[in-house]
Amino acid sequence: MVKKKKPILYPNKSIIKGALRRTFSRTPIVREVLEASVHPTKKGIRGGKQYVCAKCNEAFPGKNVQIDHIKDVIDLIPMKHISYDMLVTNLFCPKENLQVLCKTCHDEKTKVARELRKEFKKLFKYFVYETRNKVNGKRYRGVHGCVDLDDGYLGSGVLLKKAIKKYGVENFERTILFIHTSRELAYLKEKELVTMSIVKSGEFYNLKEGGIGGELSESTKTKISKTKTGTMIGENNPHYGKTHSEEVRRKIGDRPYLTGKDHPAAKSVECVETGEISDTASSTGYTGLASAIKNGTMLHGYHWRYVENHIPVELKDTKPGFRPVRCIDTGEVFKSLTDAANNVGLTQGSKIGDVCRGIRKTAKGCKWEFV
Ligand SMILES: [Zn+2]
Repeated sequence: MVKKKKPILYPNKSIIKGALRRTFSRTPIVREVLEASVHPTKKGIRGGKQYVCAKCNEAFPGKNVQIDHIKDVIDLIPMKHISYDMLVTNLFCPKENLQVLCKTCHDEKTKVARELRKEFKKLFKYFVYETRNKVNGKRYRGVHGCVDLDDGYLGSGVLLKKAIKKYGVENFERTILFIHTSRELAYLKEKELVTMSIVKSGEFYNLKEGGIGGELSESTKTKISKTKTGTMIGENNPHYGKTHSEEVRRKIGDRPYLTGKDHPAAKSVECVETGEISDTASSTGYTGLASAIKNGTMLHGYHWRYVENHIPVELKDTKPGFRPVRCIDTGEVFKSLTDAANNVGLTQGSKIGDVCRGIRKTAKGCKWEFV
């Protein structure tokens, strides 16, 4: 049976969070808190220590108690808004914020927190706003995420902040232009509304084009990828079946290698299929992005390009070409190795390809063949 599983894209925040939690559990402060909760007289059957749960006040053996953050590590803020800095600070907190809970009490607390977070997430909105200086009419456009639309947030642009200091908060008014339930859509809108011509017009406090500020969370990337997978590849790609003229191809080939701030790794990249934007190629966490962009080949199932000054290249499917594959065990046919890989929860099609070429016996527990 082929298990349909979402591919995990790295770096995955929850996985890193888990690793940090494990590290934290081995710190002296945790041992200290545990020691402090040892029952003065009560012992286990074999004479082992018993720890008192801060909630139900019962004593339990060490394996049945857990260290709990009284104020939760990620609180109610959606995970995607939590920086690693914040995560570490909250996790490695002073011992006053730590308590010993039995498994039952801890599970209960976690469950309640999860429900609350879910509710909170529903209330969380993202909007594109415009802040206007009432004195000189100069404006600022940005994206803001919050629960309370009247939170008084005016914006965080450097020039805007200076202006607020100079003219006073009372001389600024904020208008909400668009409200979105997804951060990504809000940034797409911002991209439309904060163009280079606006930045250069002198009528706005914005210093850079919109849209790039948003790094997408991994789960959202996966979601976006899932819904848009395959919409721009093969026959559906506007460039399908076309080739570049000899001249364009020569230009592509003759491109110089770039260094410094022009280096590919320092430039914003965009996924051709999903339109998702990353501040820098390196912030995507993918290796080989620059060469994939240069050659027009796929990386992690997608084509990529630079947001600015991207040189058009012919988009290709990754080697060994665009060959449909069949899962022998289920009979399911996929249009490409990548497609098959995505469907069974592999990040790359190479293992499945190896099975098809007889180099490997199975991939994800299944036998595969090229159709
Ligand atoms: Zn308890």
